Amino acid sequence: MSHFSKLGLSQPICDVLQNMGFEQPTPIQEKAIPMLLENNPTDFIGLAQTGTGKTAAFGLPLIDLIDSKNPATQALIMAPTRELGQQTAQQLVNFSKSKKDVNVEVVYGGADISRQIKALKRPTQIVVATPGRLLDLIKRRAIKLENVEYVVLDEADEMLNMGFKEDIDEILSHTLENRVTWLFSATMPKEIRRLVKTYMKDPLEVAVDAEQKSNKDISHQYVVTKSDNKLSALKRFLDIQPDMKGIMFCRTKMDTQEIADELSKIGYSVEALHGDLSQRQRDTVMKRFKSRSMQLLIATDVAARGIDVNDLTHVFHHKLPDQLESYTHRSGRTGRAGNKGISMAFINPREGRKITDIERKMNITFEKVTIPTIDELKVNRLNNWASLILNTKVDEKAEEILNSLHGQFAELSKEDLLKRLITTQLDHLMVQGGGMDDLNEGQGKGSERDKPRKDRQSRTKEGANRYFINVGTMDGITEADLIHFLSDVTGIGRRLFSDLSIQKNCSFFNLDSKHDDGLSKHFEYIEVEGRSIRVNRDEEGKPSGRQNHRKSNNRNDRGGNNRSKHSANPAGRRNRGRRR
Ligand code: AMP
Repeated sequence: MSHFSKLGLSQPICDVLQNMGFEQPTPIQEKAIPMLLENNPTDFIGLAQTGTGKTAAFGLPLIDLIDSKNPATQALIMAPTRELGQQTAQQLVNFSKSKKDVNVEVVYGGADISRQIKALKRPTQIVVATPGRLLDLIKRRAIKLENVEYVVLDEADEMLNMGFKEDIDEILSHTLENRVTWLFSATMPKEIRRLVKTYMKDPLEVAVDAEQKSNKDISHQYVVTKSDNKLSALKRFLDIQPDMKGIMFCRTKMDTQEIADELSKIGYSVEALHGDLSQRQRDTVMKRFKSRSMQLLIATDVAARGIDVNDLTHVFHHKLPDQLESYTHRSGRTGRAGNKGISMAFINPREGRKITDIERKMNITFEKVTIPTIDELKVNRLNNWASLILNTKVDEKAEEILNSLHGQFAELSKEDLLKRLITTQLDHLMVQGGGMDDLNEGQGKGSERDKPRKDRQSRTKEGANRYFINVGTMDGITEADLIHFLSDVTGIGRRLFSDLSIQKNCSFFNLDSKHDDGLSKHFEYIEVEGRSIRVNRDEEGKPSGRQNHRKSNNRNDRGGNNRSKHSANPAGRRNRGRRR
């Protein structure tokens, strides 16, 4: 007897599973299937992430429980996204090969509704739907729910996160009072408990050990690097493991698109997936991703929901999410169906606490790993190259060609020739991995702020003081702009400002100590687009007192500072500099 038949499933279903290569039930299947079959009808809660086999955990008993001779819709499965809905429906279609009369239909938004209406006219015992489209179909009387006995809320936490609460309430009001509800969720926030209280009666509950799953299959890692170096760090990981396949999660659509553009421009096989793409574009991207012709998908959390790819080796977090649930969902894309996976967060030196927070709440341990240096990349690349050469079958034409080239290499020893070949490989690598060699920052968990301060102070040279100014790349300035601006406002020669470091919303510079007496005062009445300019000594590694924050809306109120005419935008200051 197969493991699945011990769970109480019918023989035809067990046969189908065998054909599909399902040998052993997963933990959620092992617990949920007998419970649902033996206690039918019962409400049920399954706490499980995607990748645990939860679809089969509810799908298999469902197929055995519905009456295939009855053409009415008896089961309704609600899913948060089109992708998840499609994947669920596909799995159910596969399972239902055991019962020829069972039809499964999937309906979702963003697709032609008239086709879906037509499809629902056929006998359809199981409907998989996204809530918005389902409601639309109910309102158009294209679907009848009065015979629905089983409602499955799949990824219920995601549906609530996506704002489907009211839709779910309304849909459930169209179903029978005595239907049963099976709810699956990766997490159990308050809102889900409320849903359970409102719609379920004495539900049986099964939780797959998320901790055990995380510890067993997913290795949680993090690297510490400056925010500006995250992309370079990612490239190193892609280079050192060219056969990896993964998703990088970004917090914004813009980050997603920019990173994908930047990487694909230099030849990496990556694409972006986010909500600004049309459904057709998203489908194309997913098709390419699934077909392995893409190494890395760069996606927002929302767009990546429901992606069902079982062989991802890596999940990267460009920035850690604010919600623990999002971390669970993101990392759960790897380490699926018995495969091992790595979930790697890129944090800046100030974010160590986020790692400790996740560790505490999820009861997992992160391992700090180092970003490969260029030397490590070189060694790795040469090793790969050497094994490629050793494994290459010699072409029939090679000897002939070699004879014709022989004269050109005659004076080189074998060793010399190899050295030159190695150099050509290294040259190529320098283009890809160029820039700073060590991208690692020294901070680990829990120690946040010291390093950036040291960095900035270390640039203070003898005979010069380091200063902070509250303008940065966000104001559109470059180093040259800033030097001209500082010189214009203070009247101090440009060459006395040095070691500029332009950051996002602030900058740092050195000024010869002989000239810096009362530097801040020069900026007291200076504004940039209505924002007061602050300049102060960077002794603490952060802006100190706020004595310079005074703002003058009255352009004549210059407190006698005759340089205040240089106020305006430092980014536009170069022309004024030239005029002087
Ligand atoms: P799910 O968590 O339902 O999204 O399932 C994740 C993946 O695991 C799906 O592609 C399933 O086809 C596969 N799967 C589910 N149960 C089993 C099993 N018992 N044996 C092998 N693969 C499975």
